[in-house]
Amino acid sequence: MNYTVSEVLQFVRENDVKFIRLAFCDIFGVQKNISIMPAELPRAFENGISFDASAVRGFLNVDESDLFLFPDPATLSILPWRPAHSRVVRMLCDIRRPDGTLFEGDTRGLLRRAVADAARMGLQCRVGAECEFYLFERDEAGEPTMIPHDRGGYFDVSPRDKGENVRREICLTLEEMGIQPESSHHEQGPGQNEIDFKYSDALTAADNLITFKWVVRTTAARNGLHASFLPKPFADWSGSGLHVNLSVCKNGINLFDHNRSIHNPEVEAFMQGILDRVPEITAFLNPLTNSYARFGRMEAPGYVTWSHQNRSQLVRVPAAKGEYSRMELRSPDPSCNPYLAFALLIQAGLEGIGQNKKLCAPVDGNLFSMSAEELAAYTRLPQDLEEALGLAQESAFVRRVLPTGTLDRYIAAKRAECDACGAAGDREQFERDRYFAEV
Ligand code: MG
Ligand code: MG
Repeated sequence: MNYTVSEVLQFVRENDVKFIRLAFCDIFGVQKNISIMPAELPRAFENGISFDASAVRGFLNVDESDLFLFPDPATLSILPWRPAHSRVVRMLCDIRRPDGTLFEGDTRGLLRRAVADAARMGLQCRVGAECEFYLFERDEAGEPTMIPHDRGGYFDVSPRDKGENVRREICLTLEEMGIQPESSHHEQGPGQNEIDFKYSDALTAADNLITFKWVVRTTAARNGLHASFLPKPFADWSGSGLHVNLSVCKNGINLFDHNRSIHNPEVEAFMQGILDRVPEITAFLNPLTNSYARFGRMEAPGYVTWSHQNRSQLVRVPAAKGEYSRMELRSPDPSCNPYLAFALLIQAGLEGIGQNKKLCAPVDGNLFSMSAEELAAYTRLPQDLEEALGLAQESAFVRRVLPTGTLDRYIAAKRAECDACGAAGDREQFERDRYFAEV
Protein backbone atom coordinates (compact mmCIF):
# COMPACT_ATOMS: atom_id res chain seq x y z
CA MET A 1 0.00 0.00 0.00
CA ASN A 2 3.05 2.20 0.46
CA TYR A 3 1.83 4.89 2.85
CA THR A 4 3.79 8.08 3.50
CA VAL A 5 4.28 9.51 7.00
CA SER A 6 1.36 11.94 6.64
CA GLU A 7 -0.87 9.17 5.25
CA VAL A 8 -0.03 6.96 8.24
CA LEU A 9 -0.89 9.79 10.65
CA GLN A 10 -4.16 10.32 8.78
CA PHE A 11 -4.95 6.58 8.74
CA VAL A 12 -4.41 6.37 12.49
CA ARG A 13 -6.66 9.41 13.10
CA GLU A 14 -9.47 8.24 10.83
CA ASN A 15 -9.60 4.53 11.57
CA ASP A 16 -9.94 4.35 15.34
CA VAL A 17 -6.34 3.10 15.72
CA LYS A 18 -5.25 3.07 19.37
CA PHE A 19 -2.16 0.87 19.35
CA ILE A 20 0.80 1.06 17.00
CA ARG A 21 3.19 -1.86 17.03
CA LEU A 22 6.74 -0.98 16.08
CA ALA A 23 8.36 -4.22 14.93
CA PHE A 24 11.80 -5.45 13.90
CA CYS A 25 13.72 -8.72 13.81
CA ASP A 26 16.72 -9.88 15.81
CA ILE A 27 19.63 -11.27 13.76
CA PHE A 28 18.04 -14.73 13.84
CA GLY A 29 14.83 -13.47 12.22
CA VAL A 30 12.67 -13.55 15.36
CA GLN A 31 10.13 -10.74 15.30
CA LYS A 32 10.04 -8.33 18.27
CA ASN A 33 7.73 -5.39 18.88
CA ILE A 34 6.71 -2.56 21.18
CA SER A 35 3.28 -0.96 21.20
CA ILE A 36 3.03 2.85 21.28
CA MET A 37 -0.06 5.05 21.62
CA PRO A 38 -1.08 7.35 18.75
CA ALA A 39 0.14 10.51 20.53
CA GLU A 40 3.70 9.14 20.38
CA LEU A 41 3.65 8.49 16.65
CA PRO A 42 4.94 11.88 15.37
CA ARG A 43 7.86 11.57 17.82
CA ALA A 44 8.55 8.01 16.60
CA PHE A 45 8.84 9.20 13.00
CA GLU A 46 10.99 12.17 13.94
CA ASN A 47 13.28 10.99 16.74
CA GLY A 48 12.69 7.23 16.95
CA ILE A 49 11.64 5.16 19.96
CA SER A 50 14.49 3.85 22.08
CA PHE A 51 14.88 0.26 23.26
CA ASP A 52 17.35 -1.84 25.19
CA ALA A 53 19.42 -3.53 22.51
CA SER A 54 21.34 -5.61 25.03
CA ALA A 55 18.11 -7.54 25.69
CA VAL A 56 17.79 -8.55 22.02
CA ARG A 57 19.77 -11.64 21.01
CA GLY A 58 22.72 -10.81 18.79
CA PHE A 59 22.40 -7.00 18.95
CA LEU A 60 24.61 -5.10 21.46
CA ASN A 61 26.30 -5.49 24.84
CA VAL A 62 25.08 -3.75 28.02
CA ASP A 63 27.79 -1.10 27.80
CA GLU A 64 26.30 0.44 24.61
CA SER A 65 22.71 -0.65 24.75
CA ASP A 66 20.52 2.17 23.35
CA LEU A 67 19.11 1.85 19.85
CA PHE A 68 16.17 3.63 18.21
CA LEU A 69 13.28 2.32 16.14
CA PHE A 70 12.14 4.43 13.17
CA PRO A 71 8.91 3.08 11.67
CA ASP A 72 8.90 2.58 7.90
CA PRO A 73 5.53 4.11 6.86
CA ALA A 74 5.41 1.98 3.69
CA THR A 75 4.92 -1.15 5.82
CA LEU A 76 1.75 -0.03 7.66
CA SER A 77 -0.88 -2.71 8.02
CA ILE A 78 -3.69 -3.43 10.44
CA LEU A 79 -3.64 -6.59 12.55
CA PRO A 80 -6.99 -8.08 11.46
CA TRP A 81 -7.12 -10.58 14.33
CA ARG A 82 -7.12 -7.79 16.94
CA PRO A 83 -10.38 -6.00 17.88
CA ALA A 84 -12.10 -3.91 15.16
CA HIS A 85 -12.60 -1.00 17.59
CA SER A 86 -9.53 0.65 19.15
CA ARG A 87 -7.60 -0.97 16.36
CA VAL A 88 -4.01 -2.23 16.25
CA VAL A 89 -1.64 -1.53 13.37
CA ARG A 90 1.95 -2.55 12.80
CA MET A 91 4.93 -1.03 11.03
CA LEU A 92 8.33 -2.59 10.51
CA CYS A 93 11.18 -0.36 11.58
CA ASP A 94 14.65 0.71 10.60
CA ILE A 95 17.09 0.77 13.50
CA ARG A 96 19.48 3.63 14.25
CA ARG A 97 22.17 4.35 16.82
CA PRO A 98 21.83 7.38 19.16
CA ASP A 99 24.01 9.45 16.76
CA GLY A 100 21.51 8.82 13.95
CA THR A 101 23.64 6.37 11.96
CA LEU A 102 22.05 3.12 10.80
CA PHE A 103 22.61 0.19 13.17
CA GLU A 104 24.73 -2.30 11.23
CA GLY A 105 23.15 -5.31 12.98
CA ASP A 106 19.73 -4.50 11.52
CA THR A 107 19.33 -7.28 8.96
CA ARG A 108 16.52 -5.38 7.20
CA GLY A 109 19.13 -2.69 6.58
CA LEU A 110 21.51 -5.31 5.15
CA LEU A 111 18.86 -6.37 2.67
CA ARG A 112 18.20 -2.73 1.77
CA ARG A 113 21.93 -2.43 1.01
CA ALA A 114 21.86 -5.50 -1.24
CA VAL A 115 18.87 -4.05 -3.11
CA ALA A 116 20.74 -0.73 -3.51
CA ASP A 117 23.86 -2.54 -4.76
CA ALA A 118 21.71 -4.28 -7.40
CA ALA A 119 20.13 -0.96 -8.38
CA ARG A 120 23.60 0.52 -8.90
CA MET A 121 24.18 -2.23 -11.48
CA GLY A 122 20.83 -1.36 -13.12
CA LEU A 123 19.19 -4.51 -11.72
CA GLN A 124 16.16 -5.33 -9.57
CA CYS A 125 15.82 -8.74 -7.97
CA ARG A 126 12.37 -10.20 -7.49
CA VAL A 127 11.67 -12.81 -4.85
CA GLY A 128 8.75 -15.18 -4.43
CA ALA A 129 8.72 -17.54 -1.45
CA GLU A 130 6.98 -20.89 -0.99
CA CYS A 131 6.67 -21.70 2.68
CA GLU A 132 5.86 -25.11 4.16
CA PHE A 133 4.82 -25.71 7.76
CA TYR A 134 3.15 -28.33 9.96
CA LEU A 135 -0.03 -28.02 12.02
CA PHE A 136 -0.09 -29.91 15.32
CA GLU A 137 -2.72 -30.61 17.95
CA ARG A 138 -2.54 -28.98 21.39
CA ASP A 139 -3.22 -30.82 24.65
CA GLU A 140 -5.93 -29.91 27.23
CA ALA A 141 -3.58 -27.36 28.83
CA GLY A 142 -3.12 -25.71 25.42
CA GLU A 143 0.49 -26.88 25.10
CA PRO A 144 1.67 -28.00 21.66
CA THR A 145 1.89 -31.75 21.09
CA MET A 146 3.72 -33.56 18.30
CA ILE A 147 0.46 -35.09 17.04
CA PRO A 148 -0.11 -33.85 13.45
CA HIS A 149 -3.50 -32.22 12.84
CA ASP A 150 -4.43 -34.72 10.12
CA ARG A 151 -3.22 -37.71 8.14
CA GLY A 152 -3.53 -35.98 4.77
CA GLY A 153 -0.92 -36.02 1.99
CA TYR A 154 0.01 -34.03 -1.11
CA PHE A 155 -2.90 -31.97 -2.53
CA ASP A 156 -5.44 -33.98 -0.49
CA VAL A 157 -9.01 -32.75 -0.05
CA SER A 158 -11.22 -32.80 3.04
CA PRO A 159 -11.96 -34.74 5.15
CA ARG A 160 -8.39 -36.10 4.89
CA ASP A 161 -7.20 -32.50 4.67
CA LYS A 162 -8.18 -30.87 7.95
CA GLY A 163 -6.07 -27.77 7.25
CA GLU A 164 -8.45 -26.17 4.73
CA ASN A 165 -10.14 -23.81 7.17
CA VAL A 166 -6.88 -22.69 8.73
CA ARG A 167 -5.31 -22.07 5.30
CA ARG A 168 -8.45 -20.18 4.23
CA GLU A 169 -8.25 -17.95 7.30
CA ILE A 170 -4.53 -17.39 6.77
CA CYS A 171 -5.00 -16.36 3.12
CA LEU A 172 -7.90 -14.01 3.93
CA THR A 173 -5.97 -12.42 6.79
CA LEU A 174 -2.92 -11.91 4.56
CA GLU A 175 -5.10 -10.23 1.94
CA GLU A 176 -6.50 -7.89 4.58
CA MET A 177 -2.91 -7.00 5.39
CA GLY A 178 -2.11 -6.20 1.77
CA ILE A 179 -0.18 -9.41 1.06
CA GLN A 180 -1.02 -11.48 -1.99
CA PRO A 181 -0.90 -15.25 -1.45
CA GLU A 182 -1.01 -17.10 -4.79
CA SER A 183 -1.97 -20.62 -3.82
CA SER A 184 -2.22 -22.98 -0.86
CA HIS A 185 -2.40 -26.74 -0.47
CA HIS A 186 -1.89 -29.73 1.77
CA GLU A 187 1.69 -30.91 1.50
CA GLN A 188 3.13 -34.43 1.64
CA GLY A 189 3.54 -34.87 5.38
CA PRO A 190 0.60 -35.44 7.75
CA GLY A 191 -0.55 -32.04 8.95
CA GLN A 192 1.86 -30.36 6.51
CA ASN A 193 0.68 -27.34 4.54
CA GLU A 194 2.10 -24.87 2.06
CA ILE A 195 1.25 -21.32 1.01
CA ASP A 196 2.96 -19.60 -1.93
CA PHE A 197 3.33 -15.88 -2.58
CA LYS A 198 3.35 -13.78 -5.67
CA TYR A 199 6.81 -12.40 -6.30
CA SER A 200 7.69 -8.90 -5.18
CA ASP A 201 10.80 -6.84 -4.59
CA ALA A 202 13.17 -8.51 -2.13
CA LEU A 203 12.51 -6.22 0.84
CA THR A 204 8.75 -6.64 0.54
CA ALA A 205 9.16 -10.41 0.17
CA ALA A 206 11.15 -10.60 3.42
CA ASP A 207 8.72 -8.27 5.25
CA ASN A 208 5.86 -10.44 4.01
CA LEU A 209 7.48 -13.63 5.28
CA ILE A 210 7.84 -12.19 8.76
CA THR A 211 4.18 -11.20 8.66
CA PHE A 212 3.21 -14.55 7.19
CA LYS A 213 4.81 -16.55 9.99
CA TRP A 214 3.04 -14.39 12.54
CA VAL A 215 -0.31 -14.84 10.80
CA VAL A 216 0.18 -18.61 10.52
CA ARG A 217 1.09 -19.00 14.19
CA THR A 218 -1.71 -16.72 15.35
CA THR A 219 -4.35 -18.33 13.14
CA ALA A 220 -3.30 -21.82 14.19
CA ALA A 221 -3.44 -20.84 17.87
CA ARG A 222 -6.90 -19.28 17.43
CA ASN A 223 -8.02 -22.60 16.03
CA GLY A 224 -6.59 -24.56 18.96
CA LEU A 225 -3.58 -25.74 16.93
CA HIS A 226 0.16 -25.21 16.93
CA ALA A 227 1.99 -24.21 13.74
CA SER A 228 5.63 -25.23 13.46
CA PHE A 229 8.21 -24.10 10.93
CA LEU A 230 10.73 -26.65 12.22
CA PRO A 231 12.59 -27.86 9.10
CA LYS A 232 12.39 -31.59 9.94
CA PRO A 233 9.90 -32.44 12.70
CA PHE A 234 9.89 -36.16 11.84
CA ALA A 235 12.77 -38.18 10.41
CA ASP A 236 10.50 -40.21 8.14
CA TRP A 237 8.17 -37.52 6.86
CA SER A 238 8.73 -34.68 4.47
CA GLY A 239 10.63 -31.68 5.83
CA SER A 240 9.46 -28.08 5.61
CA GLY A 241 11.32 -26.01 3.05
CA LEU A 242 11.28 -22.36 2.11
CA HIS A 243 11.80 -22.44 -1.63
CA VAL A 244 13.10 -19.08 -2.80
CA ASN A 245 12.21 -18.10 -6.36
CA LEU A 246 14.51 -15.44 -7.77
CA SER A 247 14.50 -13.45 -10.95
CA VAL A 248 16.41 -10.40 -12.12
CA CYS A 249 14.99 -7.46 -14.05
CA LYS A 250 16.81 -4.88 -16.13
CA ASN A 251 14.85 -1.93 -17.51
CA GLY A 252 11.65 -3.67 -16.47
CA ILE A 253 12.46 -6.84 -18.42
CA ASN A 254 12.85 -10.15 -16.62
CA LEU A 255 16.22 -11.51 -17.77
CA PHE A 256 15.10 -15.05 -16.92
CA ASP A 257 12.37 -14.86 -19.59
CA HIS A 258 13.43 -17.59 -22.02
CA ASN A 259 11.25 -16.26 -24.79
CA ARG A 260 13.50 -13.26 -25.00
CA SER A 261 16.85 -15.00 -24.91
CA ILE A 262 17.80 -18.64 -24.52
CA HIS A 263 21.16 -17.98 -22.94
CA ASN A 264 21.30 -14.73 -21.08
CA PRO A 265 24.88 -14.33 -19.81
CA GLU A 266 23.77 -12.24 -16.83
CA VAL A 267 21.23 -14.84 -15.74
CA GLU A 268 23.84 -17.57 -16.01
CA ALA A 269 26.39 -15.51 -14.07
CA PHE A 270 23.77 -14.72 -11.39
CA MET A 271 22.93 -18.41 -11.00
CA GLN A 272 26.56 -19.48 -10.86
CA GLY A 273 27.29 -16.73 -8.34
CA ILE A 274 24.66 -18.27 -6.06
CA LEU A 275 25.74 -21.87 -6.70
CA ASP A 276 29.34 -20.96 -5.82
CA ARG A 277 28.40 -19.35 -2.50
CA VAL A 278 25.62 -21.61 -1.24
CA PRO A 279 27.85 -23.86 0.91
CA GLU A 280 29.34 -20.88 2.79
CA ILE A 281 25.96 -19.18 3.33
CA THR A 282 24.09 -22.33 4.30
CA ALA A 283 24.53 -21.50 8.00
CA PHE A 284 22.20 -18.55 7.31
CA LEU A 285 19.76 -20.33 4.97
CA ASN A 286 19.53 -23.33 7.34
CA PRO A 287 20.29 -22.07 10.83
CA LEU A 288 19.24 -24.94 13.12
CA THR A 289 20.93 -28.22 13.95
CA ASN A 290 17.60 -29.70 12.84
CA SER A 291 17.87 -28.05 9.38
CA TYR A 292 20.46 -30.63 8.28
CA ALA A 293 18.21 -33.62 8.88
CA ARG A 294 16.12 -32.37 5.96
CA PHE A 295 18.83 -32.39 3.28
CA GLY A 296 19.30 -35.09 0.66
CA ARG A 297 15.93 -36.80 0.79
CA MET A 298 12.22 -36.31 0.23
CA GLU A 299 12.70 -33.59 -2.40
CA ALA A 300 15.16 -31.57 -0.33
CA PRO A 301 18.55 -31.08 -2.03
CA GLY A 302 21.86 -32.54 -0.83
CA TYR A 303 24.26 -31.35 -3.53
CA VAL A 304 25.17 -28.14 -5.30
CA THR A 305 23.65 -28.84 -8.71
CA TRP A 306 21.02 -27.35 -10.99
CA SER A 307 18.61 -28.62 -13.60
CA HIS A 308 15.52 -27.57 -15.53
CA GLN A 309 13.12 -29.97 -13.94
CA ASN A 310 14.44 -32.36 -11.38
CA ARG A 311 13.35 -31.71 -7.79
CA SER A 312 16.36 -33.47 -6.30
CA GLN A 313 18.53 -30.49 -7.29
CA LEU A 314 19.55 -27.41 -5.37
CA VAL A 315 18.42 -25.07 -8.15
CA ARG A 316 15.56 -25.78 -10.51
CA VAL A 317 14.72 -23.55 -13.46
CA PRO A 318 11.03 -24.39 -13.82
CA ALA A 319 9.12 -24.36 -17.08
CA ALA A 320 7.46 -20.96 -16.56
CA LYS A 321 6.75 -18.19 -19.00
CA GLY A 322 7.27 -14.43 -19.18
CA GLU A 323 7.21 -12.58 -15.88
CA TYR A 324 7.11 -15.90 -13.98
CA SER A 325 10.43 -17.13 -15.43
CA ARG A 326 12.84 -17.63 -12.56
CA MET A 327 15.21 -19.90 -10.69
CA GLU A 328 14.01 -21.80 -7.65
CA LEU A 329 16.51 -22.33 -4.84
CA ARG A 330 15.33 -25.35 -2.84
CA SER A 331 17.70 -25.54 0.12
CA PRO A 332 16.52 -22.72 2.46
CA ASP A 333 14.12 -23.57 5.26
CA PRO A 334 11.58 -21.41 7.08
CA SER A 335 13.66 -21.13 10.26
CA CYS A 336 16.02 -18.69 8.53
CA ASN A 337 16.09 -14.92 8.86
CA PRO A 338 14.71 -13.95 5.42
CA TYR A 339 16.44 -10.55 5.44
CA LEU A 340 19.85 -12.17 5.92
CA ALA A 341 19.06 -15.00 3.51
CA PHE A 342 17.86 -12.75 0.67
CA ALA A 343 20.69 -10.23 1.21
CA LEU A 344 23.31 -12.98 0.95
CA LEU A 345 21.66 -14.57 -2.09
CA ILE A 346 21.37 -11.28 -3.96
CA GLN A 347 24.97 -10.34 -3.16
CA ALA A 348 26.16 -13.78 -4.33
CA GLY A 349 24.22 -13.37 -7.59
CA LEU A 350 25.58 -9.85 -8.12
CA GLU A 351 29.11 -11.11 -7.47
CA GLY A 352 28.52 -13.71 -10.19
CA ILE A 353 27.42 -11.00 -12.62
CA GLY A 354 30.29 -8.72 -11.61
CA GLN A 355 32.78 -11.52 -12.33
CA ASN A 356 31.06 -12.73 -15.53
CA LYS A 357 30.79 -16.24 -14.15
CA LYS A 358 29.99 -19.06 -16.59
CA LEU A 359 27.22 -21.43 -15.57
CA CYS A 360 28.22 -25.06 -15.00
CA ALA A 361 26.38 -27.82 -16.91
CA PRO A 362 22.96 -28.92 -15.61
CA VAL A 363 22.65 -32.34 -14.00
CA ASP A 364 19.68 -33.99 -15.63
CA GLY A 365 19.18 -36.98 -13.41
CA ASN A 366 17.65 -37.88 -10.11
CA LEU A 367 20.33 -37.37 -7.48
CA PHE A 368 18.34 -39.37 -4.94
CA SER A 369 18.91 -42.53 -7.00
CA MET A 370 22.55 -41.96 -8.02
CA SER A 371 25.36 -44.16 -6.76
CA ALA A 372 28.02 -42.89 -4.36
CA GLU A 373 30.56 -42.87 -7.24
CA GLU A 374 28.30 -40.71 -9.41
CA LEU A 375 27.58 -38.33 -6.55
CA ALA A 376 31.29 -37.93 -5.80
CA ALA A 377 31.46 -35.55 -8.79
CA TYR A 378 29.33 -32.94 -7.01
CA THR A 379 29.84 -30.61 -4.05
CA ARG A 380 27.76 -31.63 -1.04
CA LEU A 381 25.80 -29.19 1.02
CA PRO A 382 27.22 -29.01 4.58
CA GLN A 383 26.31 -32.10 6.57
CA ASP A 384 25.57 -30.32 9.82
CA LEU A 385 25.40 -26.86 11.37
CA GLU A 386 28.95 -27.16 12.72
CA GLU A 387 30.34 -27.67 9.21
CA ALA A 388 28.18 -24.85 7.81
CA LEU A 389 29.41 -22.45 10.50
CA GLY A 390 33.03 -23.35 9.72
CA LEU A 391 32.47 -22.53 6.03
CA ALA A 392 30.75 -19.24 6.91
CA GLN A 393 33.53 -18.23 9.26
CA GLU A 394 36.22 -18.85 6.65
CA SER A 395 34.30 -17.14 3.86
CA ALA A 396 35.72 -13.87 2.55
CA PHE A 397 32.38 -13.33 0.80
CA VAL A 398 30.37 -13.58 4.02
CA ARG A 399 32.85 -11.25 5.77
CA ARG A 400 32.41 -8.72 2.97
CA VAL A 401 28.59 -8.78 3.12
CA LEU A 402 27.99 -9.02 6.87
CA PRO A 403 29.38 -6.60 9.47
CA THR A 404 32.02 -8.27 11.62
CA GLY A 405 30.19 -7.81 14.94
CA THR A 406 26.97 -9.29 13.59
CA LEU A 407 28.75 -12.22 11.98
CA ASP A 408 30.76 -12.99 15.11
CA ARG A 409 27.68 -12.83 17.34
CA TYR A 410 25.69 -15.02 14.96
CA ILE A 411 28.43 -17.65 14.77
CA ALA A 412 29.04 -17.62 18.53
CA ALA A 413 25.32 -18.12 19.28
CA LYS A 414 25.00 -20.91 16.73
CA ARG A 415 28.20 -22.62 17.94
CA ALA A 416 26.73 -22.59 21.47
CA GLU A 417 23.62 -24.26 20.04
CA CYS A 418 25.77 -26.96 18.39
CA ASP A 419 27.61 -27.52 21.68
CA ALA A 420 24.35 -27.78 23.64
CA CYS A 421 23.05 -30.25 21.06
CA GLY A 422 26.25 -32.31 21.28
CA ALA A 423 26.17 -32.27 25.09
CA ALA A 424 22.53 -33.41 25.09
CA GLY A 425 23.55 -36.63 23.35
CA ASP A 426 20.18 -37.29 21.67
CA ARG A 427 19.92 -34.76 18.82
CA GLU A 428 16.24 -35.32 18.12
CA GLN A 429 15.28 -34.95 21.77
CA PHE A 430 17.37 -31.77 22.05
CA GLU A 431 15.64 -30.30 19.00
CA ARG A 432 12.18 -31.17 20.27
CA ASP A 433 12.95 -29.51 23.61
CA ARG A 434 14.74 -26.52 22.19
CA TYR A 435 12.96 -25.69 18.95
CA PHE A 436 9.61 -27.41 18.66
CA ALA A 437 7.38 -24.89 20.45
CA GLU A 438 9.48 -21.91 19.31
CA VAL A 439 10.23 -22.37 15.61
MG1 MG B 1 6.06 -27.84 -1.41
MG1 MG C 1 8.71 -25.32 -4.89
